Order: sequence, then structure tokens, then C-alpha cells
Amino acid sequence: MIFKQLADYFERLETTSSRLSLIDILSELFSKVEKHEVAKVSYLLQGRVAPFYEPVEMGMSEKLVAAAVGRAYKADKEEVLNLLGKLGDMGLVAQQLNLKFKIKTFKLETKEIFETLAGIAKTSGEGTVEKKVATLADILKKVDPISAKHLVRIPLGVSRLGIGDPTVLDAFAKLKLGDRSKRKLLEGAYNKVSDLGLIGETLWSGGLEAVQKLDVTVGRPIRSQLAERLPDAKTVLQKFEGNAHVQYKYDGFRVQIHKDGNNVRLFSRNLEETTPMFPEIVEGTIKQIKAKTAILDSEALAFNPQSEEFLPFQETTKRRRKYGIEEMAKSLPLKAFVFDVMYLDGKPLMDLELIERMEQLKKVLQGDEILIPQPGEVVDNEERLNELFNDALTKGLEGVVVKRPDSKYEAGARNFNWVKLKRHSAGELKDTIDCVILGYIFGRGKRAEFGAGALLVGVYDKDKDEFVTVSRIGTGLTDEEWREIKVQSSKFKVQRKPARVNSLITPSVWVEPKIVIEVLADEITKSPVHTAGKIGSGPGYALRFPRLVKFREADKQPEDVTTVKELVEMYHLQYKK
Ligand code: ATP
Repeated sequence: MIFKQLADYFERLETTSSRLSLIDILSELFSKVEKHEVAKVSYLLQGRVAPFYEPVEMGMSEKLVAAAVGRAYKADKEEVLNLLGKLGDMGLVAQQLNLKFKIKTFKLETKEIFETLAGIAKTSGEGTVEKKVATLADILKKVDPISAKHLVRIPLGVSRLGIGDPTVLDAFAKLKLGDRSKRKLLEGAYNKVSDLGLIGETLWSGGLEAVQKLDVTVGRPIRSQLAERLPDAKTVLQKFEGNAHVQYKYDGFRVQIHKDGNNVRLFSRNLEETTPMFPEIVEGTIKQIKAKTAILDSEALAFNPQSEEFLPFQETTKRRRKYGIEEMAKSLPLKAFVFDVMYLDGKPLMDLELIERMEQLKKVLQGDEILIPQPGEVVDNEERLNELFNDALTKGLEGVVVKRPDSKYEAGARNFNWVKLKRHSAGELKDTIDCVILGYIFGRGKRAEFGAGALLVGVYDKDKDEFVTVSRIGTGLTDEEWREIKVQSSKFKVQRKPARVNSLITPSVWVEPKIVIEVLADEITKSPVHTAGKIGSGPGYALRFPRLVKFREADKQPEDVTTVKELVEMYHLQYKK
């Protein structure tokens, strides 16, 4: 497929406002791509040249992309920056300048553009900046205005198509399996390999059967298993019909550890590679894991072994940084509390019962210098479960995670095989809700200076793959945070309601769902103005007195925010004591 054709599809995708037509356009697009292009197109649709978990960065700032645009279309720096000020989007700048330049032939293949972009990402060493600018300018000279618009957004990381992995899977299912509802058949494999391109390529070459045979591999993150909520020990034991496996619940970063000999890679909750950030965990894995290959699930946090004190999340979070890592690793060393093992010496263990996986964990993890095993304890009565829960609170932890002893590791699932019991789950609503920013509403007076008065935020409807509104938030943000939100969201500002957003409220400015925030509210109530959980003309759900707790985009993707299903469960839980 020539890139122009792909860019025309990008344009159609960008301007559609319905999720169903997103899927129609995508499946039409995929019906035209060749087998060898499926993976590349899947990545490009999300503004990338590799799966999400590969830390491939283009390494081009707005300034460098501006330089490339200027060089391609013979515009000086001032002209480019003036236009950018006026249009607010480098894509539109490139499109406009390209138009004047009147390029006649556009024969560049998608493959060629993909490889050029991947090459820019790999460029390093002396003269890197110049090489990157020259290479991007060179391809910009050979494309049409629409291609130029979408092309420059890729190195800037501001692709505005609003397409998530589930949307692409729907399109694959519609095209190759006859019906988008068959996405479920692809999801099992997707949860194990986390690579949309690989799913597409395999589907094209070997059909559904080949996709379903895809299995976990060291080096490719597994989508994390997640926990449900229940109010208390009694309910948990009832739900589990007897035995429950109990582990402490640590509040730090989720770290999925992949070991292949001395090569160790670490992945975050949202599958981003975090290996360079935590050198001590890499070292601990090599020293303490007595297997050639392994995949482990853990929570890492700052811990003081002398005082046996867990440090609060605010301390641990200082380790999420790109610079000064060695010093921080010394002053604030992390321990990884390993609570599961999914793969050992060439064999996936995910289908084993939890209890058997814990036996494997005890054997393979030696010592507790950096990696600390959490084999947990099986309990069969409320007293002991409460004792462990209170013990966790005394140690300064958040609570416990209770798991069904005979359950498999279900990649990507959130169900009652894992249940979190937190300090405040019982009674009033104290659990936080993760929301994604969908837009902002201009304020008056002092706040108007920062360009925002309230944020329109939403949660995720997983079944419909849609973002639905749940609240307007105006309090709890400092002036500094408003400024930060303005800078962040200006990158994702869009002209119209994104196709996957379902809202009755029209904000002053729509924002592509990207920025995840954690919100605390007093109560979940029913509301006619919000679309979360709304069925027909009935009311939706809303948050009462919501306030911002923290930004979560470092470890959550928009599809990882609280789901409608969870919200409805939390609504019912809040009145149970
Ligand atoms: P979630 O990760 O479920 O979307 P969240 O980010 O709000 O939700 P919590 O509700 O606090 O997090 O709890 C779930 C998280 O707890 C897990 O994702 C994991 O990072 C962490 N965790 C800590 N200890 C354990 C444990 N023993 N077993 C499983 N998860 C644990």
C-alpha cells in the first residue's frame, strides 16, 4: 500500500465521530493491506513503529520536527513557528506548507516510510540531530499534504486517531472472523503477547487457530491480572466457598520481571519497559532466580530493612525517573515483593493452580536480599483473614489481596479470582477511581489564566470500548496542576468529539483520551447528565465531590482506568457495611 492511501484512511479515521464507523473504516483499510504490512499498519495507526512495550522513541522534539518541516518546504524557522502558534498543531503546519510546495508524485510505500521512521528512532552517535532532521525532511518532500500532516505527528507522539488496541482487534475480527463480536476469540492470545502487530500478522498468515496457539514468551510482557473489590473478610470467604490465599497488598509499582539468562527486562503495569529505572531489581533477579528463563509478577517499593518500614508511595514514586538513576538506587533502594510466577525454564505456568505456582516460586527464588518471595498463606476462617488484614495495616500497608487458591493466572482479567481488601473498602467510599480526561471547560477569573475551569472526565466501558463521562472536576488542583494539565492536554486537543467518547456534555475543548488521573470522591450517585453506566433513557453514574489525588498516566493507559462495571459495583458496595 502506498503511504498516501494509508494517510487518506488516517484522515477518515480522524474525522469520524462514531466508534462503529471507526471499525468499518479500519476493516476496510485492513482488507487492502498486504500480509507483510499488517503489523506495520497496526503500529502506525497508533503513531508507533513497534509494539507499545518496545521502548522505541523517535527522539525528536517539537523544535527538531519544526526544523525538518522548514527544511522540506523551504520555510524559515520563524514562519514554521508562527504558523504553529496560529494552528496549534504541527500536523496542520506541515499540511499547509506542503500545499504551497506543490509536490506532484506520491509513490512512497508504507513499508518505506515505516522503515525510515524506525531508522530515525535508531539513529545515534555523532551528528544524530542533523541526521534525524535530514531524514524526516527528505520523506516530507516526497509526500502529499494529508500524508505530511499525519507523518509529522508520529515523531511528536501526538497521533490523534483515537484508536485503542480493542478497536483494532474489533476490526481484525470483523474482517477475518466475520463479526466484530468475535474479538473475544483474539483477546486470549493478545493478553499473553501484548502485541497487536503480531496478532494481525499471525491471523493473516495462519488464521484463528495460529493466533490461539500464541503463547507467552520471555521479553514480551503479559497483560497483568487484576483484582476485584469486596467489602470484608466474610464476603470474600463466602464468595470463595471456603479457602482463600492471602498476600499482603503492597503499594508501589507493579513490576513484571522477565529473565533470560543474564538478560533481564522489567515492565510496568501498563506494559512499558522500565528496565533502566531499577538496576537493583535486575541485579537481584540475576542473583536470586535459580532458573535460566523466568517471568515473575511483583510489586516494588522502597523498604527499609533495618527498621522493617515500608516507605510511603510518595517516596517510592521518586524512582520513576530517567536521570540520576544510580544515585537514587543507592539512596532509595527498592525491594520487589514477588507474588506470582508465570513462566519457568521454557514452560508457561499460567495454567497451574495458584498454590502450585507458589510452590514453584519458593523453589526458584532464593534468599530475600532484593527480591522477596510472597508465597502467601491459605486461610479458611474469618478470624485468621482479619488477623492478616490487620497485621498488614499495622505494618503500614494498604491491606491484603485475597486469591482463589486453585485459580490460573488469567492475563488481562479482572475477576473475583483476585480480590483486594483495602482499609476503607467497607462503608463509605474511600477507594479511588481512575479517570481519563476527556475535555476541559473554560473558567472565569483567575483560573481562566490557566485555560481551564473544570475538567470533564470519564471512565471506560470495556464491553463497548467507549469512554463515558462520570464527572466534572474543578477542585483539588493547584494552580501548578492546572498549568500542567493545560500543557499536557494541549498536545491532545482535538477539533471534535473523539469517536470513542460518549458524552451528553460538550466541553469547551475536547481532548483525546490519554491523560489518566486518580480521583477521590465522597460518593457515587445516579445522574441524568453523565453517560457512565447509562442504559436507554435511564440515569448514568456520577461522582459526588470529586477531587484530584494524582496523575497516573505514567502507569496507566486510557483503557486501564476504572471500568463502568467496577464503578457500578463500587456504587453498590458503598452502602454495605
Ligand atoms: P488496578 O491495578 O487493579 O487497576 P489500582 O492501580 O488502583 O488498580 P489497587 O487497587 O491499589 O491498584 O490494587 C491493585 C494493585 O495492587 C495491583 O495491580 C498490584 O500492582 C498491587 N499489588 C500489591 N500487592 C499485590 C499482591 N500480593 N498481589 C497482586 N497485586 C498486588
